[in-house]
Amino acid sequence: MKNVPDLEISGLSLWRVPLTSHETYYMASGKACATVDSMVVRIETKQGVSGWGEVCPIPHYLPAYANGVAPALEELAPVLIGRSPIGAEAAMAACNKHLIGHVYAKSAIDIALWDLTGKACGLPIYTLLGGLQTDELPLYHSITCIAPDDMVRIAKDAIAAGMTQIQVKLGADDDWQADVSRLRLVREAVGPGPIVYGDWNCGATRMDATRVGRAVADLDIMLEQPCQTLEECAAVRAATGLPMKLDENAHDTASLLKAYELGCMDAVALKLSKFGGITELRKARDLCLYAGARMCVEDTWGSDIATAAALHVAAATPRQGIMNVCDLSGYVAPRIDPAAPSRTGGFISPPSGPGLGVSPDPDVLGDPILDLVA
Ligand SMILES: [Mg+2]
Repeated sequence: MKNVPDLEISGLSLWRVPLTSHETYYMASGKACATVDSMVVRIETKQGVSGWGEVCPIPHYLPAYANGVAPALEELAPVLIGRSPIGAEAAMAACNKHLIGHVYAKSAIDIALWDLTGKACGLPIYTLLGGLQTDELPLYHSITCIAPDDMVRIAKDAIAAGMTQIQVKLGADDDWQADVSRLRLVREAVGPGPIVYGDWNCGATRMDATRVGRAVADLDIMLEQPCQTLEECAAVRAATGLPMKLDENAHDTASLLKAYELGCMDAVALKLSKFGGITELRKARDLCLYAGARMCVEDTWGSDIATAAALHVAAATPRQGIMNVCDLSGYVAPRIDPAAPSRTGGFISPPSGPGLGVSPDPDVLGDPILDLVA
């Protein structure tokens, strides 16, 4: 048995890294993403081992913002500094006693604590989470909401590159018939087999989502988060008969239970920063396994740290529970760790080194914007 060394947290540092999408990302309700600030956290120990975390919030997408991370870190530094980082759940319980909510900021802290625990044990996080169950994780390719023909071209390229799952963003032009074309044309272009689903990011009315769903109801298509509330999404599912993936409305145990009761959670996006890191995502994962919901294990945005953290959770999950994962770092520049895993065909595997198994490039990070020490 390995001897786990005693570690004591001695400080926290924070970096801001703007991530630019290779292709500007258009969504419903006039939402777009070109460059988004990612916040990178390092938790240092007296013994010289450190752990990395990352959160890249999109403020018009979920209730989270990059500038909220620094004050949350300052608030929680006295709770963390001086204690052991080993055992993220215990450390996060102490944080939660001191500061309720702010789960997106806590997500980066929690990931860094898991990284430290793994490094202290000499084991990858997926082993700490119960062991490797799914090494080859299927990816989805998300297509920005542009003209239907251009989306078809991107879908064909993705399938040719080995992708087996396509997410079609809908609603950017507020034209429900264009959304019908997007879904029909992409479904036809990729042929039978691949999963195709259309995501409104809450931007559709119940009526328009129902019209679109009924117009494509003869096809093998899933709808994602058409409207703002769970009840509306459940109504769209009932009216169209199409399977439903939830995202924005699924963010804690209560919302997962409610979605299960409403019968509108065929699939669900489990994002680290919605739930509060690996500790909370693991609980959500277990609930979804029971509820029979296929999971997309990922984060909002991010580079290699957030990507690796999600891959570890997914890899420690039975294959039938996993719908897909996302190579977030493949959509943006710069890469925080260019040597971290990348997509191979339509699949990706977690890093196998201790902890997260990623090593951020100091040149990419630059100077920290915050240093908190004892
Ligand atoms: Mg979504």
